[in-house]
Amino acid sequence: MDGLIDLRDGVRQLCRRFPPPYWRSLDRGRGYPEEFVQEMTQAGYLAALIPEEYGGAGLGVTEAAVILEEINRSGGNAAQCHAQMYTMGTLLRHGSDEQKARWLPGIADGSIRLQAFGVTEPVAGSDTTQISTTAEWDGHIYRIRGQKIFISRVQHSDYLLLLARTTPSGETAKRSYGLSVFMVDLHQALDQGLTVQPVETMMNHETNALFFDNVPVSAENLIGEEGHGFSYILDGMNAERILIASECIGDGYFFIERSSDYARERVVFGRPIGQNQGIQFPLARAFVQIKAAELMRDRACELFDAGHKAGAEANMAKLLASEASWEAGNAAIQTLGGYGFAVDYDIERKFRETRLFQVAPISTNLILSYVGEHILGLPRSY
Ligand SMILES: Cc1cc2nc3c(=O)[nH]c(=O)nc-3n(C[C@H](O)[C@H](O)[C@H](O)COP(=O)(O)OP(=O)(O)OC[C@H]3O[C@@H](n4cnc5c(N)ncnc54)[C@H](O)[C@@H]3O)c2cc1C
Repeated sequence: MDGLIDLRDGVRQLCRRFPPPYWRSLDRGRGYPEEFVQEMTQAGYLAALIPEEYGGAGLGVTEAAVILEEINRSGGNAAQCHAQMYTMGTLLRHGSDEQKARWLPGIADGSIRLQAFGVTEPVAGSDTTQISTTAEWDGHIYRIRGQKIFISRVQHSDYLLLLARTTPSGETAKRSYGLSVFMVDLHQALDQGLTVQPVETMMNHETNALFFDNVPVSAENLIGEEGHGFSYILDGMNAERILIASECIGDGYFFIERSSDYARERVVFGRPIGQNQGIQFPLARAFVQIKAAELMRDRACELFDAGHKAGAEANMAKLLASEASWEAGNAAIQTLGGYGFAVDYDIERKFRETRLFQVAPISTNLILSYVGEHILGLPRSY
């Protein structure tokens, strides 16, 4: 417990050196938080989940959650840190000893950036088992052909963890077979048939459409067994949902703290606006919702780190937290009145950023489907 408090304090102190104006100016220029990521790496926070034998801290999701929550709570955006911290999970769980020795130490010390994760495609969308990007073995090498969309941080990564089809759809015993995971060296791929086209979005989130035209990838870069990639990706999803929930909780606290401070100080009609229940109650309600999401997130962490099934709690935490942070953002805008829309107050930026979490990395409807099917035992809806 003391360790967690120290960890939280340490991240908080580092984040203080990168206050909201830093993130505001990056948002304006659509920039990458280079110095912040470097400092977080040097402090060892981004290697939290990498075992000590590979140069990491060997910590659990509980600690990783605290790190990401504090970044967002400070007014920052944890997207890049989340990606560097977590994307290597597939390699860690399913890579060979040789692959882990080859890549994990570099990911731990930051000399290798693995922050890009390529699953989503324009046609398949949420229906991941139906992706059509292929990796065809030509006797010497895999050749990647196809298209991906919304693949983030490709321009700031050395490697992309790619999900591609190695057996044609319809030729496998199950819909989820026939997909494989590859570590794609982006520097090589860019010289050998990969085209990257940026997709502009409403927040500062470098994301891209990718076009693969016979991009060669060596068999040494196939992670785990060919054809089992979908289950490898699923394996990591509970951890990711817990981490995303933590970023939402951080956003929620940012909104509540900022707007409560404002409501105490802003005097209109001769009294602080926070004295009016019309301002007070939405903030109180949002706070209660964030706290409830936090409890569910903590429970999910506890189960996950103890090696128990955490699917239900991880999904519920992500749903509760993404809705709570959005409601907190909404209450914050209302509290600040016109200033809620002014860029220099940072609420509008965080409001845009936190909206993403109800859609990506998984949308709320699919979480509800999970709860309906796997917890309530209702018929599968898709
Ligand atoms: C900024 C940003 C960054 C991203 N980064 C990455 C990344 O790095 N890597 C990556 O692989 N992907 C990334 N994504 C993609 C993201 O994961 C997808 O956008 C998301 O999974 C939804 O897929 P889609 O956009 O194709 O929506 P669709 O699948 O077309 O869904 C549209 C809507 O329909 C709903 N819907 C679909 N089917 C059902 C159903 N059966 N029942 C009920 N509702 C349904 C969905 O919930 C959603 O609300 C990113 C997206 C964004 C916006």
